[in-house]
Amino acid sequence: MDLQIVRGDITTFPVDAIVNAANTSLLGGGGVDGAIHRAAGPELLAECRTLHGCKTGKAKITKGYRLPAKYVIHTPGPVWNGGGSHEAELLESCYRSCLELAEANGCRTVAFPSISTGVYHFPLEQAAEIAVRTILEYGKGGTALEVVEMVCFDGRTKAAYDAALAKMKER
Ligand code: ADP
Repeated sequence: MDLQIVRGDITTFPVDAIVNAANTSLLGGGGVDGAIHRAAGPELLAECRTLHGCKTGKAKITKGYRLPAKYVIHTPGPVWNGGGSHEAELLESCYRSCLELAEANGCRTVAFPSISTGVYHFPLEQAAEIAVRTILEYGKGGTALEVVEMVCFDGRTKAAYDAALAKMKER
């Protein structure tokens, strides 16, 4: 399994599954969630309504509708609340749950946004290290997933994930 850090708009990625940094209602929101719903069309919200929400750190899958991706995997990340509310564990659980769900649905290629580092205010450097470590550890366990892309929307986010990957490779 190959992990790639790229810059771009996740709604344009022709992968088997893109991950949505959703909220627990799964009924849409701002940021990447809003962008995914706009690009996928109203059918996505209609399917999300049948799912009755999702707990923080877990994941649920839908079709991709008008997106170039076949599936959307929705995961509510933790809201940063100072670090003493299991935020790190929950963020790790988001990445792991999405990878497991992608693999269970026959995906080979998955793209993630930077979960929780937007309006949920998880510190970027720490979030990047958790994401990179969790994805690489998952890959080491043996997986049918071939490519995992971390899709960074801006330069600061890309720099943080590049640094986290470089740090992991040094170890
Ligand atoms: P959260 O509520 O989990 O913090 P946000 O959507 O506010 O989620 O932000 C998560 C990350 O997604 C941020 O780095 C934001 O810049 C990024 N983002 C926003 N739109 C897109 C997009 N179209 N593609 C990829 N990343 C995006």
